[in-house]
Amino acid sequence: MNIVTKISDWQALRKTLANKTIGFVPTMGYLHAGHMSLCARSRQENDLTVASIFVNPTQFNQAEDFQSYPRNNEADIALLTAHQVDYLFLPEADMMYPDGYEVRVTEDQVSQLLEGAHRPGHFTGMLTVVLKLLNLLQPTQAYFGEKDYQQLLLIRKMVSALFLPVKINACETMRAADGLALSSRNARLTPAQRLQAAHFPRLLQSELNAAQITAELISLGFKVDYIMDQWQRRLGAVSLGDIRLIDNVVRV
Ligand code: AMP
Repeated sequence: MNIVTKISDWQALRKTLANKTIGFVPTMGYLHAGHMSLCARSRQENDLTVASIFVNPTQFNQAEDFQSYPRNNEADIALLTAHQVDYLFLPEADMMYPDGYEVRVTEDQVSQLLEGAHRPGHFTGMLTVVLKLLNLLQPTQAYFGEKDYQQLLLIRKMVSALFLPVKINACETMRAADGLALSSRNARLTPAQRLQAAHFPRLLQSELNAAQITAELISLGFKVDYIMDQWQRRLGAVSLGDIRLIDNVVRV
């Protein structure tokens, strides 16, 4: 795998790939089987696959959450190499924001709901960095997980609104055996919290209504940001200690 850390190096390399189809998998690292399912699909559907790892500071609304976000570039590089990803784009934060984040992409409908209501500025940071990455990497197609369903809707909306020449593909949520959606943040759960966390997907998939699920989660010791039915799905965000988990399922 070719690891590219400088924007100018990527831009020079990109010119040599003009006649190839390129699949792109943007990530924040600490990779798991969910990320790898996106890479596997990209490999099937494109000549070349590029992954990026960038823990984007502008999409964290709390400094501590950014600091404590798990990171392990060495393990990630080994995993991407084992999965035959062709290129890893691994930029540093100051390279991605030469403007000091004075230029931003905002959306003012979908981004105000659910996650947006609980994480002010999160979606503006996310959309801004995804636009930068799409402009730099110039992929034919890009792959996003349904796990971050509101993010996926916003990226599709941005690509359509700004006429970006890229196809956006949605990939289903990969789960652990007990149903918990794979997430980099799961690594921070204590063994007891990890066991408890499985109640969250179980209740989301149950026949209970949103209010009943909320009450049940609270009685089990979760802090609940929201459980909401929207876009033919049931979406939720909860915390165990300071670890925030999000998930969604097709509405039953
Ligand atoms: P992240 O590194 O958490 O920003 O995620 C990078 C990409 O992987 C996003 O498109 C996520 O939606 C996707 N992703 C994260 N977790 C999963 C999962 N459990 N199953 C499928 N895709 C996922």
